[in-house]
Amino acid sequence: MSNDATDYQVFIDGQFEDATSGEVIEVYNPADNSLVGKVPACTAEDVKRAVQSCKAAQPGWRKTPAFERGLIMKKLAAAINDKVDLLALTISREQGKPLKQATGEVLCGAELLEYHAEWARRIEGEVIPSDDENENIFLYKEPIGVVACILPWNFPFYVLARKLGPALITGNTVILKPSTDTPCSALILATILNEIDFPKGVVNIITGKGSVTGKGLSEDPDVGFVTVTGSVPTGQKIMTSCATNVTKVSLELGGKAPAIVMNDADLDAAIAAITAARISNAGQVCSCTERVYVQSGVAEAFMEKIKVAMNEVTWGDGVKNPEANMGCMINRDAVETVHNMVLNAVGQGATLLLGGEVPQMEGAFYPPTVLADCDHSMDIMHEEIFGPVLPIMVFDTVDDALALANDCQFGLTSNLYTSSYHTALKFSNEIQAGELYINRRQSEAYQGFHAGWKQSGIGGDDGKHGMEEYLQTRVVYMSY
Ligand code: NAD
Repeated sequence: MSNDATDYQVFIDGQFEDATSGEVIEVYNPADNSLVGKVPACTAEDVKRAVQSCKAAQPGWRKTPAFERGLIMKKLAAAINDKVDLLALTISREQGKPLKQATGEVLCGAELLEYHAEWARRIEGEVIPSDDENENIFLYKEPIGVVACILPWNFPFYVLARKLGPALITGNTVILKPSTDTPCSALILATILNEIDFPKGVVNIITGKGSVTGKGLSEDPDVGFVTVTGSVPTGQKIMTSCATNVTKVSLELGGKAPAIVMNDADLDAAIAAITAARISNAGQVCSCTERVYVQSGVAEAFMEKIKVAMNEVTWGDGVKNPEANMGCMINRDAVETVHNMVLNAVGQGATLLLGGEVPQMEGAFYPPTVLADCDHSMDIMHEEIFGPVLPIMVFDTVDDALALANDCQFGLTSNLYTSSYHTALKFSNEIQAGELYINRRQSEAYQGFHAGWKQSGIGGDDGKHGMEEYLQTRVVYMSY
């Protein structure tokens, strides 16, 4: 393992290349500002060549039996596992999460490829009964063609694999476009693909500004599907770009997950789950708990216990403290944004119970922070914080809690802590979110379906339903 800076190249049509402009983007470790690497700043021309490479490779990949595609993907998963230390160190350095968590991310990425490889023999069409005596109706499931995956920085490898797996097993070829903040781990994947002789052109990996590479991919007529994980404003831009050629788009966007703690909840279990959810990845997770509603009967006890739990969170440089609960944030701008949200909340009447000060040290650190006395007149209860800050509001009735949880522009994830099956069922039936976690912290299963309501997105990832997003249908009516 090395802490040196690396000059990376992009991977187009099985070749390692610089950008045609020769320009590079520097990637810094947000924990100590050291240079992690330089990656090519691809141009529109580079984007075009990557798309054409995918287009040329797609017919061959589609015709490769799904079972064989699965075997190739399993080989890739094994090769990723072999490189787990290098990948994890690189993720920790470029993104800031503790090394142990980065290692987990890589292993999950490999497992995601294995999970999708297992679908090989189960991607089935249908025979539909006809109204006519002498007719068959066949429904085929076909790959879409060239898929562009536009990736965020918070889970650079997990989200990459979450899109790569279903795209490949269904017979699509893929262009991966990582975030400019975390492109290095994706370009290490390119070296792995090269080492195992992965079929040329089936996966292209390009780096560069979203406004050039991401936009170029979204507007390219030869891209059949754009799947993006990112913020709402970026999703809106990509949707507009995709309108150019009426390209199919899947948007996994922001979240503002509520956690509701009822009087009848196991309070200690709820505290542990909410703390873990809020500080995970320094609070930079689309699905982690962004706002807490506590029923009045347990409010006092909850405030005391959550303060203690958040105060016990260990944090620091993710490479030097591999076992820390929390690393740093993605950059100093993000720290400033989160801090301003805290100051604004206090100005609007919230009470600071813990944290709330930018540490005087190098790196993009922000401490676990707890805000009490919050209500829905405050911006912090509506806007995505994306940092380790927990705003808490007290409520009285189940109906109040449900109404507060649903009073939101987002609808990705939600959490409920209760021992009442009545409350659990009521929330299961009425929460306006793509996911509800009852008596456990959020974390998606490979075989689940992660899809947001409202501004959290369109379409979704994971499981059978996520995989089917990468397919299109052809219906053949055959009379005899
Ligand atoms: P971002 O929106 O800044 O960037 C996402 C990607 O879009 C990057 O690769 C970026 O280069 C690219 N991009 C930027 N402008 C573009 C354009 N005009 N055209 C095409 N591509 C463009 O998001 P981020 O800051 O990397 O990630 C954080 C956000 O992602 C948060 O809002 C978080 O909630 C969300 N997120 C959602 C999920 C989910 O599953 N719903 C998962 C993880 C993160």
